[in-house]
Order: sequence, then C-alpha cells, then structure tokens
Amino acid sequence: MKSMELTADVRYLKGVGEKKAAQLKKLGIDTVNDVLTHYPRGYEDQSTVTPINSIVVGEKATVMGRVTQLTEKTARRGMSILTAFLEDDSGYLQVTWFNQSYLKKKIKVGQRLFVAGKVGYAYGGQGQLALSQLTACHFLEKDDEVPVGIVPVYPTTEAIKQSFWRKLLGQILAEANLTESIPENIREKYRLITRREALTGIHRPTSLAQIKKARRRLAFEELYLIQCGLLIIKKQYRDKQKGIRHLMQGSLTTGLLAALPFQLTADQAEVWQEITRDMESPLPMRRLVQGDVGSGKTVVAMLALTKTVENGFQGALMAPTEILAQQHYENFTKQLSPLGIRVALLSGQLTKKKRETLYAEIAAHEVDIVIGTHALIQEGVTFARLGLAVTDEQHRFGIAQRSALEKKGALTPDVLVMTATPIPRTMTLTVYGDLDVSAIRHLPPGRKAVRTFLRHTDRRELIYRFVLKEIQHGRQAYVVCPLIEMNEEIALPSAAEIYEELTHGIFRGIPCSLIHGKLKKADKEEVMAAFHAGKIKLLVATTVIEVGINVPNASIMVIEHAERFGLAQLHQLRGRIGRGEYQSYCILVSDSRTDTARERLAIMESTADGFQLAEEDLKLRGPGQFFGERQHGLPDLKIADVFSDMDILLEARQAAAETLASEAAVRHILPLLTAQYHEQFAHITAN
Ligand code: ADP
Ligand code: MG
Repeated sequence: MKSMELTADVRYLKGVGEKKAAQLKKLGIDTVNDVLTHYPRGYEDQSTVTPINSIVVGEKATVMGRVTQLTEKTARRGMSILTAFLEDDSGYLQVTWFNQSYLKKKIKVGQRLFVAGKVGYAYGGQGQLALSQLTACHFLEKDDEVPVGIVPVYPTTEAIKQSFWRKLLGQILAEANLTESIPENIREKYRLITRREALTGIHRPTSLAQIKKARRRLAFEELYLIQCGLLIIKKQYRDKQKGIRHLMQGSLTTGLLAALPFQLTADQAEVWQEITRDMESPLPMRRLVQGDVGSGKTVVAMLALTKTVENGFQGALMAPTEILAQQHYENFTKQLSPLGIRVALLSGQLTKKKRETLYAEIAAHEVDIVIGTHALIQEGVTFARLGLAVTDEQHRFGIAQRSALEKKGALTPDVLVMTATPIPRTMTLTVYGDLDVSAIRHLPPGRKAVRTFLRHTDRRELIYRFVLKEIQHGRQAYVVCPLIEMNEEIALPSAAEIYEELTHGIFRGIPCSLIHGKLKKADKEEVMAAFHAGKIKLLVATTVIEVGINVPNASIMVIEHAERFGLAQLHQLRGRIGRGEYQSYCILVSDSRTDTARERLAIMESTADGFQLAEEDLKLRGPGQFFGERQHGLPDLKIADVFSDMDILLEARQAAAETLASEAAVRHILPLLTAQYHEQFAHITAN
C-alpha cells in the first residue's frame, strides 16, 4: 500500500472532491494533517446498553433487541420510512430509518440488532418511542459479540456528517505515514504512547482509558513542540554571545531619577535592578516586565532606554496604537529633552517626505530614542546603533513582530517587553516561554481603589445624572461602547448613537467628543489632546482607549453593554481611571439577564486584582477569547488546554529543555517544528 503523506491535499482522500474540499476549507482544513488533527470534541459512549423500558425521550440511548416486525411507508415527497420493531426483555420500541429502503433486505425478522441513537416519538406512532439519528447500528449474527463502542463526535458543519469524518479518519489511520515526533528517550521518560497509538486512540478509541492516554500524549506533543521552539529562540540568543554590554550607570540615568516627580516604588526599583544587571551583562537581555494597569511600567522602560543612550546606543519603543505612541512621545520628550536626549515619533501617517527624513536621521544616529507603532518595523527603518528594543503592551503583538524589531540594527539589541495583561503562570510559560520575567506587583502609593458597580440598563438615566454631577465638580468621564457604527447584525446602540443621544440630551452644553479607531490619526490626536488638557469633559469612545492612556483627572467611566467585553479587557478599560487623587467610579451597564454574564461581570465589582480577573476570564472564556483572536502570535492549541493542562505543560517544558541539551535531538525536532508551526518558528532555522 502506498504511504499517504500528511502534507497531501484533502482531495487525495477517498470521497473528497471539489465540493467536499470546499466545505472542509471552511473549517480551515486543507491537508490530510489538518483532518488528522481535527480532534473530536467529545465522545458518545455506546458501550452501555439500556433496557428499553428505561430509555428517556430526548436523550441518547444504546439498546439491543430482537426484530419482531419490519414495515416501510412512503411519506410526503416520496420519503421512505423504514421501521423495525425491536423487543428486549423489558419492552419494545421502534427504530426508524429515513430514505434507506435498501436496508430492508439486510434486516430479517428475528435478527438481533444493536443500535444507538436519539430517542423520540415515533412518526405517526401515537406516542410510541422510536430511535432515530442512529450513531451505531449492527446486525448481530448468532454468536456475535456485542460491539462495545465509544464513538467520537467531531466539531463540524451541517454539510459534513459525523460519519464522513469517521470515514476520512479511518482511511488516514490506515494509510498515512505517522512518524514519531517525540524523541524515544523523552517518550519513555514521560511515559507517552507512540504517535500512532495516540492518533488511533483519539479517533478510534476502544476504552475511556485509551482516550485519556491518547489525549495526554497529543497535548504533550503540542506543548512540547512549542516549548522547543521558544527555548531554541532563547538559546540562539544566548549562544550568539554578541550582546551589548551597557556600562555602569552614568549621569543621564542619575539625572532622570533625580528629575522624576516621584520616587520609584520598591517593585519598580527591584525591576530596574534586574534590568540593569541584564543590560550590563555581555549576554543579550530578554526580559518581560509584567505589571498591572497603572503599576508604572513606563518609567522603568524610560530608565532602560536612557541607559542605552548614555552608553552611546539608540533605543526603540514600539506601542500598539498611535494614541499610545503619541502619549509616550510627549511624556518622554518632557522628561528626556532637558537631559539632551533626542526623541522622535515615527508615526504610520507621516508624509513620505517627513518619513524619509526621519529614516535618514535614524540611520545616521541623529536621534537617540524612536517611539512608534508597527511603523517601526517597516522595511525602510534601519538603526545605526540599536542597543535596546522595548515593546509596550506586548500582548498586542506577535512573536514575529517582536523579533522584527530586534533585527532593526546590526547588533543584537537588548530586549525588554512590557505587558499589563496579568496572565497566569501557565500562560506566561506558553506565550513568553523565551523570556525572563520581572513583575511589578504593587501600584504606586496613594491610589484610591476604583469603585465598581454593575447596573441594569433601566438605570441609565440615574447613572448619567451622576456623571454630570461629577463633571460639574471638575472631573472628566469616559463612556465606552463596544461598536462604532450601526451594525445590522448586532442590534446594539453604537458609540456614534450614544454620542448623539447624550450630547442632545443630558450633556447638552457640555464639551463632549467621540473617538474611535476609524477616525483619522490627526483627528484622534486632536481629541485626545483636548481631553488631556481638560477641554473635553466627556469622551465617548470605543476600545481605542483600552491601552495605556493616562489622564489623571478622568475619574469616571461608564461601560455600555459591558457583557460584550472580556474581564481582562474590562480591567484594562477600568485602568484608565483611578490614576489621580480623586475617588473614581466605574459603572458597568448591562441588560444581559443570563446568569453567567451577570456572574462574570459581578467579579469586576468584587476585585481589582488583575491576576484574579485574568484567571477567571481564562476559565470562563478559554485562552483564544482571553487574548483576542491570535493576538499572542502563538499557534492555536488544537488539543492542549493551557489552563487545565498545567501539569502536562510543566513536563513538556522540562522535556523541551532536555531535548535542547542534545544537538542530535534538536536536529531531529527542528524540521518537525517548522513544518508544524511554520508561521511562528520558520525564522529560527535561518540562523
Ligand atoms: P502602566 O504600567 O499601566 O504603563 P504608567 O507607567 O502609565 O502605568 O504609570 C501610571 C501612572 O503612575 C503615571 O501617571 C505615572 O506617572 C505614575 N507613576 C509611575 N510610577 C510612580 C511612582 N513610583 N510613584 C507615583 N506615581 C507613579
Ligand atoms: Mg503603559
């Protein structure tokens, strides 16, 4: 038999023509391997036979009995209905097949039948029970054993039947070349079954114990390969040994520390120490600073960038949005130009001429620190002497973007990434597995905790009266909405509509503005600048204000349709207030009546701890939702669950470290890794 390649197109499989291939493509399935890793979402256990008198309408059941009678009727539009009457010691029921009259010849009265399906009322049967939508049907000969069946159930679309998946997988398991991907010694040490056994076990299980073993093996493999990729990246940096050695602290950093309007907190000071140590070492720094919203990460980045400048290098700071880049630029210019440091803003919307002038200045080392968005990693940007690359709000970028920034100079720069998304340890290891981690755990002193309330939509009038009162006392407010414009599919008021409603109603005469992602950059900046300066009192916004924005006088935030946001995102939004001396209020407005939605939002009322919220969010929504679509840049996990598979993850990470210790093992793993996760890890083979 010819051995089937896993990279082969799905059309290679029996029964897959153009039409089926198109249907499979809708599920993201192009190759044989995609089918093979289309894992069941669950199983139906048909191994327990239920006595007929104990079956329940609406549930699934597996029964075994003797055929006492067989009838066929033709119903409307020529549909044939074949009915077998089945009897066991406890009672009898009907089994129905639609449009399968060919079965008539196969079924004989007196024969034993083993069937599994859904229990309902018989077609025209006056309340008698019938089994239909069969998932198993076996005609038993005299001595046949009862088929003990655990049937996989695949995530699918209407066009593709469960039985079709089973057929495809049957063919693949029989014909494909399922080479082992985990080195023998690792497999033995961690007691993993072979790849072939695992794939058979997951798609064709004969027992629950087998499914468990198969799942563990496949989840291990997935996490192990990713960990290998991350650790290889880390090792390659270490091995280069061409890192920059930043000398001891000089006059610029001392000058900056002295000029700051505050003292570093103990956490900030400790993180700054860790960074200093890394930067002074000849090895390249690769450090993640994790700190909750408002914990004061910016100043730590500013110190590090200043240090690289005082050592004669350039620094880059990449932020996820124009608004945030702009804000950093203003803040940096204010603090650093008095020290003679040249700061530039590389925005995506510069005119061609201005952009090219700036490119030339960057290449000629006429600027010291460049702040920008993704514009920083465009092709034309080349640094004369990039010594430190900082990425702010890293969870908004992928691995590939981060490493693109690192390659913007001739040297191997130190790398610092900052994230406000407090993530559980499992996630840290997966998403940032190639970095060392520092944490800022406590907020600067003197912050008043934001008071959070969950309110029903019918209280909006009262809520906005309260907002108005705060504005009259000199404060500013945000109103956050999930959508910009009217949307035909989702019947929610948009930011634009709410803006209209508020400015024509209760806030008439109060300076208000609307800001969202689709505004032109210049307009956005104008609005933000005016809000910053206190000229605008009420800002109706979409989530463009989610990251980083710092306006201490804004002390109130109303979030409309709060149920449309994730907890981590709500926490980020709420982090925009409570930044100054005033008591701040966050009001979550929702008319959602489902218990889960309210329960989820109620967590926001009870805690301000970002880590706790992140864990809850992860539990409730799963990692994909948690980070937003592919934002973290890592492959989607097909079978492992970073939350519940913590044990496997730790083992997989340890195993990956062991693999990296052997060059032969790395050579074995690399092609598998890059074949499987081309997008994320292809760049590591290049060097
Ligand atoms: P984030 O970690 O969310 O990026 P920022 O760096 O924007 O937080 O800091 C939030 C606010 O806290 C800023 O206004 C900043 O000036 C202030 N801040 C930072 N560090 C301290 C400190 N040690 N003491 C007092 N205020 C601080
Ligand atoms: Mg920040």
